[in-house]
Amino acid sequence: MTDERPYNQNCIFCRIIAKEMPAKIRYESEHVVAFEDINPHAPTHVLICPREHYPTFLESPPDVLAQLDAAVKGIAAELGFGERGFRLVINNGPESGQIVFHLHYHFLAGKKMGGF
Ligand code: 5GP
Ligand code: ZN
Repeated sequence: MTDERPYNQNCIFCRIIAKEMPAKIRYESEHVVAFEDINPHAPTHVLICPREHYPTFLESPPDVLAQLDAAVKGIAAELGFGERGFRLVINNGPESGQIVFHLHYHFLAGKKMGGF
């Protein structure tokens, strides 16, 4: 990386975002990258990440969360789920099942979702 964004070379998502590891990227903006989950739980399962490395939702600054929220709206429109609907999931911390400690929203769509 040549810029000064927080980057963790041991983080798989930082490496994907830096294009050091392959992924099916579906959306990119100045602050956000979204790519397909390697183990999808819906026909469309995209992981929406800030370019900067923050381990969890709780550790992420409000402006970064606002950038992700704006990206969700763009992705919903671009991928054609504005009307059909989609589900957002954020895992935060050990009991949530979070396994990758680089903030990400799960964007799930393309089928009728079951209830919680
Ligand atoms: P978490 O439980 O941390 O919220 O979810 C992490 C997600 O990242 C999982 O759904 C998992 O399938 C996905 N994942 C883990 N490693 C990779 C990878 O190397 N590439 C991609 N595209 N997704 C990954
Ligand atoms: Zn990272």
